[in-house]
Amino acid sequence: MIEFIQAYQDKPGIREVLHCLKQAQVRSYFVGGAVRDWLLGERTWDLDIVVMDWPPAFVECIRRQMSLHLSEASPFLTYRVVLPSGGHIDLARARKERYPHPGALPEVKPTDQLHEDLGRRDFTINAMAIEIYPDAGRFHDPFGGRTDLSAGWIRVLHQGSFQDDPTRAFRAIRYAVRFGFHYAPETEQEWDHARAVLPEISFERIKNEFKRMTLESQAVGMVQEIHRLQLLESYHPEFRAQPEALKILPHIPRTDESDWVLLFAPFCLHTPKIFELSLTREERKFFQDLHALLHAQDLGATFEEIHRRWKSTDTRALRFAALYKRHPLLQEYAEKREQTRLSITGQYLRDLGIEGQKVGEILDRLFVEKLKGRLTSLQEELRYLHDILLKSSQ
Ligand code: ATP
Repeated sequence: MIEFIQAYQDKPGIREVLHCLKQAQVRSYFVGGAVRDWLLGERTWDLDIVVMDWPPAFVECIRRQMSLHLSEASPFLTYRVVLPSGGHIDLARARKERYPHPGALPEVKPTDQLHEDLGRRDFTINAMAIEIYPDAGRFHDPFGGRTDLSAGWIRVLHQGSFQDDPTRAFRAIRYAVRFGFHYAPETEQEWDHARAVLPEISFERIKNEFKRMTLESQAVGMVQEIHRLQLLESYHPEFRAQPEALKILPHIPRTDESDWVLLFAPFCLHTPKIFELSLTREERKFFQDLHALLHAQDLGATFEEIHRRWKSTDTRALRFAALYKRHPLLQEYAEKREQTRLSITGQYLRDLGIEGQKVGEILDRLFVEKLKGRLTSLQEELRYLHDILLKSSQ
């Protein structure tokens, strides 16, 4: 599989790392997603390299490459090299893992056996390696990953895999949906293990899986799988998705990881349980806003009313609620609000001598008028402001 090495070896950053590995004579391998994707005909710039040793000569060599940023070794024996063109290489000491009890983080020990490092991984398709040094290009596939990749199977490496780490259940779904693969019989037997152990893991780990799904083009299919397999329900019985709410997801854009909350929303529309979990201030606000919208008797019948009530509400929550409650005006408001920016500022009004609450009220009126498409230039904003001030002084 020398073509793999050839395809990457001249790229800035990768070239230096490969050079240092050879110079320091470090037994080393490309592993994981990059190998899998290569066999699928794709190239990725997030590379994983496993080394059998960290000789000082290697670390020195890497540090001498001024263009490379090498981040600190973590307790899990890893280094990250950030590539100048974007992407990164994660360098990890080959290790074996032991799970002290189901769902716990693993106890990690170094190993000099490649098959032990590959054997701690999630699925056969992620447990293949291409040697860098000494035998450049040699392919290692102790678990039959290549056959599974060709046949489209997501297969765990051992029985009880999801018991060790139930987040692998989310990973299985991610790969199955992304590649259109099927779960092998051994994987099918793991769902019960995942459901049994999920309640024991931190919400942070589930959140991370949702974050990873957020930017996948088929994220909605993944969420439907999570629903079908009742994974979140096992985390807490009240996390049961509303099928109607799942249908909304394709209609709300997601732009970055923080939009994971949208994917989670269908599972917690009517339960306060979500507020007992670890959330950032922004995440908490999203769910609070969503609940407030869903429980509101009357969302508003005009842009003025909607703006008065929901102006500080998270736009994603607005979009979700508008679709869920079939409220086209709220939907239009949410969409237009994104694109509406006033040229007149609060400071401008204060400089005119307007004070207190009045500033906010005038800005709101200007904003709604602009949102309706009636103010298309600064002149029109100023003219409208003039009318407001004239009327209020009469
Ligand atoms: P992608 O980024 O396309 O999802 P990847 O394979 O690069 O795929 P990472 O999450 O970056 O995924 O993980 C790198 C490798 O580490 C995986 O290929 C897999 O071998 C291993 N791995 C990651 N998470 C786990 C896990 N929870 N259990 C076992 N092995 C894992």
